[in-house]
Amino acid sequence: MIEFLNIKGINKRDNKEFMREFEKLLDAGWFILGENVKKFEKEFAEFCNVKNCIGVANGLDALILILEGYKELGNINNGDEVIVPSNTYIATILAISKAGLIPVLVEPTISTFLIDENLIEEKITSKTKAILPVHLYGRLCNMDAINIIAKKYNLKVIEDCAQSHGAKFNSIMCGNLADAAGFSFYPGKNLGALGDGGAVTTNDDKLAETITALRNYGSHKKYENIYKGINSRLDEIQAAFLSIKLKNLNLDNSFRRKIAHYYIHNIKNNLIVLPYSKQTNIEDLDSNVWHVFAVRVEEREKFQKYLTENGIQTVIHYPIPPHKQKAYSEWNNDSYPISEKIHEQIISLPISQVMKQADVEVVCKVINCFK
Ligand SMILES: *Cc1c(COP(=O)(O)O)cnc(C)c1O
Repeated sequence: MIEFLNIKGINKRDNKEFMREFEKLLDAGWFILGENVKKFEKEFAEFCNVKNCIGVANGLDALILILEGYKELGNINNGDEVIVPSNTYIATILAISKAGLIPVLVEPTISTFLIDENLIEEKITSKTKAILPVHLYGRLCNMDAINIIAKKYNLKVIEDCAQSHGAKFNSIMCGNLADAAGFSFYPGKNLGALGDGGAVTTNDDKLAETITALRNYGSHKKYENIYKGINSRLDEIQAAFLSIKLKNLNLDNSFRRKIAHYYIHNIKNNLIVLPYSKQTNIEDLDSNVWHVFAVRVEEREKFQKYLTENGIQTVIHYPIPPHKQKAYSEWNNDSYPISEKIHEQIISLPISQVMKQADVEVVCKVINCFK
């Protein structure tokens, strides 16, 4: 069986270092907001080349805390609108709802699966306060175009970097391409913890200071609460594990890029629509860290069954678009045809930093025989 993602194999590589950090933590006996979190925050801020990084409990909270932070600072108010792609993992949209704001959905382009920047302006109203682009599947959005629109209408731009750790746009690392960014360290992400974790990055010192308090009951100083905050902290043990894994992130991403490159050049079947790639040189592919390698197939069910029968595991990211979910029943009759088409046809092939080249070749051969 060629696994979709071998998480065990990914983490086995750092087994010894994980054990050493765990022993150290047991000896120290300090589990929440200590030296490990501070160290990882500093390292991740340096990695993203951004002034501030705040560790939080997960990626959803990272996005909620950014929006709540802007509310505390007076930039956004309850009931304001936030523009978000209709084609995303639902967490992005839930974050907006949870912060008491209104998500306004914008269709993606079919080739990139990312928010179509040409459709943003027509959705802007006097209530719009922010744009929340998602670097879906590891590919960066056109941030130049989005930042220009935001500047024109005085909007905040918040990146959802949950799937794009380490991707660069014109040599600038994501997490540093807008006003603030939310990251997830869910185990299956390109930089994954051994449990839940997340982070906010921003060059805005005031926002960073506010979020640092908000994640810890609204407090900077024990038992003094200046905001109605929440408990959303990155664990010391997860921060220690993440520091170990961060060292390999660039190498891991370049490995994923090589697999993607191989797929793009060796999958030759007219029934399969490969992901958009105008570049042919691997070094130009910096703006995609291939969190998933998603192809489109009209007869997806048949294709998935065929791959399973041939020992290849695949996953669908995602089977139901957010506007068709029960959670958003108010949108169920709305039509987002491009999103719907993507959700009907998308299927993700195996890709990871520990996938063997022989397996990559088998995947291509099997796909090329699909009829
Ligand atoms: C994973 C993910 C999130 C949420 O991250 P969690 O850590 O699971 O809360 C948000 N947005 C996108 C696009 C994601 O893929």
